[in-house]
Amino acid sequence: MSRYDEDTDLSVKALKGFKDILPDEVRTWQMVERIARDIFHRFGFSEIKVPILEKTELFSRSIGEATDIVEKEMYTFEDRNGALITMRPEGTASLLRAFIEHGLHVQRPVQRLYTMGPMFRHERPQKGRLRQFHQMSVEVVGSENPKVDAEVIAMAHLLLNELGLSVSLEINSLGCRSCRPLFNNRLVEFLKECSGRLCPDCERRRHTNPLRVLDCKNENCRSLFDKAPLILDHLCDQCRDHFADMENGLKLLDIPYLVNPFMVRGLDYYTRTTFELVTDALGSQSAVGAGGRYDGLIKDLGGPDIPGIGFAMGMERLVLLMSQQQKEAGATSIDLFVAALGKAAQETAFKMVHGLRVNGLQVAMDHEGRSLKSQMKQAGRLNSRYTLIIGDDELEKGEGTLRNMESRDQASVSLPGDLDEWTGKMVEMISS
Ligand code: ATP
Ligand code: MG
Repeated sequence: MSRYDEDTDLSVKALKGFKDILPDEVRTWQMVERIARDIFHRFGFSEIKVPILEKTELFSRSIGEATDIVEKEMYTFEDRNGALITMRPEGTASLLRAFIEHGLHVQRPVQRLYTMGPMFRHERPQKGRLRQFHQMSVEVVGSENPKVDAEVIAMAHLLLNELGLSVSLEINSLGCRSCRPLFNNRLVEFLKECSGRLCPDCERRRHTNPLRVLDCKNENCRSLFDKAPLILDHLCDQCRDHFADMENGLKLLDIPYLVNPFMVRGLDYYTRTTFELVTDALGSQSAVGAGGRYDGLIKDLGGPDIPGIGFAMGMERLVLLMSQQQKEAGATSIDLFVAALGKAAQETAFKMVHGLRVNGLQVAMDHEGRSLKSQMKQAGRLNSRYTLIIGDDELEKGEGTLRNMESRDQASVSLPGDLDEWTGKMVEMISS
């Protein structure tokens, strides 16, 4: 028995929750990224690229020790020198670390930055929930103005609109460092009264992170929270005005929204405005994007005392929605397939193809000496607009046959005497 007959699968598979994104799907990703970059640039944002690995401390200090991410979802390990390293679970902390490290606020008082890339969280993989996923993370640093909140939300809204997706916007305010602790005390009192009737998670969180309790999805807990104190009723004057001005900004821009006083977000650094873009089309993975203001975070990370606001969109969830709503990128096509028959024709074709590619056309040929029928099939599979057929006979006559693959019209075209001159003529003919 050879080793290939054994019933063991010797191939190495990807890790659970880590997904290959194959070329057909990548086209939709590229389309989403292209539209997103275009919109971000229209709103004055610049791209920044930051590392995937950071010191663990960066995340525990910013996201918060008593959050799901830091408690149980981070990929953390010791590097070879014994330093504690984490694969970033989100983008804001890394981006702000870079902002502080390079003193970007000195260059310009308000900075608009975005980054795109993979994030890592050890969660239970499901549809729209992976262990390596991708986010577009957008941040405005240096302004406290509620119009900036409305503008940032409007940009996220426009992106979804231009992608053709219908998603709803929910907003809330989490107050600031002066009013939130007072609300927190009220909430702790309320939760104490509920003790014994809460789910085990809420029972634990009521001590470690009471605000997060409000976000519980358990039906029974939710019914208890009907009588819970609401943060929106406990905002200080400044936070109340800030929220009203932000709402006014959304109204001025005709952006529909729903106030959801139970939305608290899973990261500790948020202050004032928080928002989520939600859909009911992805099961319990309802948030496509989410964000908020983080006015104390930059100072907490050792930077200047300046405010900021941002959001992150999940690429996988966007692309899933695009495929459900049939908004995927269309099939790709190429400009020309050169079908060459015989050794000499293949050599000429080899030079022609390169010359056309240098001049900007998407061109393919076959190197394996396949039959004309098989090469025409390849041209069809590649969705080629034109095919140029050259056999050894044609080569002798100095003429090939150019076929328009859609109309099926055929015409004779001369083959290159002077390659540069010929390339110019072909580019003109095929591009027109
Ligand atoms: P959820 O409530 O679904 O766990 P979250 O509040 O943890 O989301 P954020 O940390 O705010 O999400 O991240 C912003 C966006 O990133 C989410 O709206 C979602 O689109 C995406 N996202 C977050 N976690 C994952 C994941 N494990 N897999 C795929 N996408 C994710
Ligand atoms: Mg989560």
